[in-house]
Amino acid sequence: MPRSFARSKANTDNSELAFTDSLTGLGNHRRFVDKIERLISDRADDPAPFALGIIDLDGFKPINDLFGHKAGDDILIQVAMRLHASMDSYSTVTRIGADEFAFLYPMVFSEDAAAEKARMLVEILSAPYDVGTRTARLSASVGCSLFHSGDETTDVLIHKAETALYSAKRSGRGAVVVFSQEMEEAAKRVTRIEQALRRAVSAGDVEPYFQPIVDLRTRRTVGFETLARWTDPDLGSVPPTTFIPIAEERGIIGALSQLVLRKAAQAALDWPDDLFLSFNLSPSQMVDQNTGLNILSVLGRVGLNPRRLDVEITETGLMSDPISAGKAIDDLRSSGIRVALDDFGTGQSSLGRLRDFQFDKLKIDRSFVATMLADRPSEHIIRAILAMCDGLGVDVIAEGIEQEAQAERLRQFGCVWGQGYLFGRPASAGATLSGLRETLRARA
Ligand code: C2E
Ligand code: MG
Ligand code: MG
Repeated sequence: MPRSFARSKANTDNSELAFTDSLTGLGNHRRFVDKIERLISDRADDPAPFALGIIDLDGFKPINDLFGHKAGDDILIQVAMRLHASMDSYSTVTRIGADEFAFLYPMVFSEDAAAEKARMLVEILSAPYDVGTRTARLSASVGCSLFHSGDETTDVLIHKAETALYSAKRSGRGAVVVFSQEMEEAAKRVTRIEQALRRAVSAGDVEPYFQPIVDLRTRRTVGFETLARWTDPDLGSVPPTTFIPIAEERGIIGALSQLVLRKAAQAALDWPDDLFLSFNLSPSQMVDQNTGLNILSVLGRVGLNPRRLDVEITETGLMSDPISAGKAIDDLRSSGIRVALDDFGTGQSSLGRLRDFQFDKLKIDRSFVATMLADRPSEHIIRAILAMCDGLGVDVIAEGIEQEAQAERLRQFGCVWGQGYLFGRPASAGATLSGLRETLRARA
């Protein structure tokens, strides 16, 4: 039992309570800050390093939802007891947020030693928890920072540990990261991109580019995929693989998506109306209840028929919250929008997704197409996907076709649609329209 529980009530004055977390009996955020401040002043004359860290429980919210809040509290108390039991007499552990704990190791002097200590805590927290008659498992991510010189403040040390924790969280569950200078640079760069992107989105400076999707039998264009393009005056051209994840993390994706969709839908009005427009949705948009309505309202304002729109989603977008994602897919489909599963074959449990959700199209990931001529397994996988989709009544688009031989082989296998540099690179709205006019003229 944490120390403060064992104290008698009479000894616990108000100031003590202000430093205590009432659920677990550990110190709270104020205690953590106070301990760091004291340690910094102790080290004024003798600046030996020390380590601190923040522990964040991975996936605690679903556990709370699944087992109930009472069980959630019980687990937090068990976490507190395990952490407390693992501290030596110099060290402190506190609870600084709902599912966040923090520790201070005055006698840990190096990055490696801090990481080792943190890994031990992750290990301790990974053992099963008793929840009534059931057991639950948790993992934890940890970000650490070290005090090295006299001029680091408490705020700086906590900020560094948070930056490291953020990086640990991004790399998956159960990771330990110790703050480094490169991480600071990377974090600053992300913030710079975020700020520039916010400005670009409100100024309307992100453009849709369009890449043709063709019928592999006739080579005629049947539609275009919208790919967002952004050039910042200072940062230069930033690829979507960089700015889309940042937009997602920093809550800009909704506004960005509306802007790009509006411009793309406007461009599509000038195309022959048997051509469809395909638009990528981010995973976080699949759990947002308003996504369907937002898309329909953009199409309504522009005047593009929802039957001309495909949305592309990835398996990651289905996995975080399958129930909301399923509802979003049903909403979109009931308004005439078709739903395509993008980058198929790169995610997890792909086959189950095809049974659980109703898709109109599936896009075979570029990695299979790139290796299909040289690599038997890729060829077999492509053929199996085509056979399976044929049975399910799902249309297939092969992505990333760069060579004539790939296109020909895919056609022989019965793949009807394809996309890739062989047929066209992503191009601006203007270039796309000129291209279409040329084709129409040539046909006339
Ligand atoms: P994606 O949806 O899988 O898009 C296909 C990517 O493959 C595009 O990269 C495209 O330019 C590239 N590509 C197409 N054909 C070929 C080929 O023959 N060879 C090679 N090597 N690459 C090819 P891009 O434009 O860099 O986009 C990357 C990803 O960013 C997209 O992958 C999509 O997930 C995301 N993205 C782009 N625009 C948007 C957007 O407006 N919203 C959202 N949520 N995501 C977007
Ligand atoms: Mg796509
Ligand atoms: Mg793709």
